[in-house]
Amino acid sequence: MLRRTLALVVTNVALGATLVVGAALPAAAAPAAIAPAAVTTLTYDDSAAAEFKTAVAQGVAIWNSSVTNVRIVKATAGQRVNIRVIADNGWPRATLGPVRATGSGTVWMGRLAVSQGYNVVRIAAHEFGHSLGLPDRRTGLCSDLMSGSSAPVSCANANPSAAERSRVQSNYAGFAVTRTQVTGRPVVIMDAA
Ligand SMILES: [Zn+2]
Repeated sequence: MLRRTLALVVTNVALGATLVVGAALPAAAAPAAIAPAAVTTLTYDDSAAAEFKTAVAQGVAIWNSSVTNVRIVKATAGQRVNIRVIADNGWPRATLGPVRATGSGTVWMGRLAVSQGYNVVRIAAHEFGHSLGLPDRRTGLCSDLMSGSSAPVSCANANPSAAERSRVQSNYAGFAVTRTQVTGRPVVIMDAA
């Protein structure tokens, strides 16, 4: 056990050394080493999403086409799952994020709202909005995704507003860079979860 721990430390030191070498590269190569280009990729698992799988995929696709700092992809077999999607008979709900690549959250696709006539793709996109760190804002406006059920039941808009997109962008801006490159302590944090 002790040997294994020591081996990890050595690996970390080696990574740190690699980063230092990278920072010392000629000017032409330096921007690539420090540019905040990291995109957070989150995985989701819809194996318990029952009849909502298609709506969930559509809600995810909407977010992927609305923001660039975070991407949501379906988890492959054996891959770490960040967001579990579960169908149940309650109201839709979700863990409030922003979920990180090292973290996890849950989206519940509750049938109560669907049975009352609320748009199922809007529900999926709204709940994933929570996963990405957006709280509810009951503005009553159909143009707001996070207005949820305060908008009319007939509201079929599943797209986030400009303000909602912007906030998610901010939630994921530069995160990976801060955690993995600037602090120089990436492995400890990434392995914690
Ligand atoms: Zn909500």
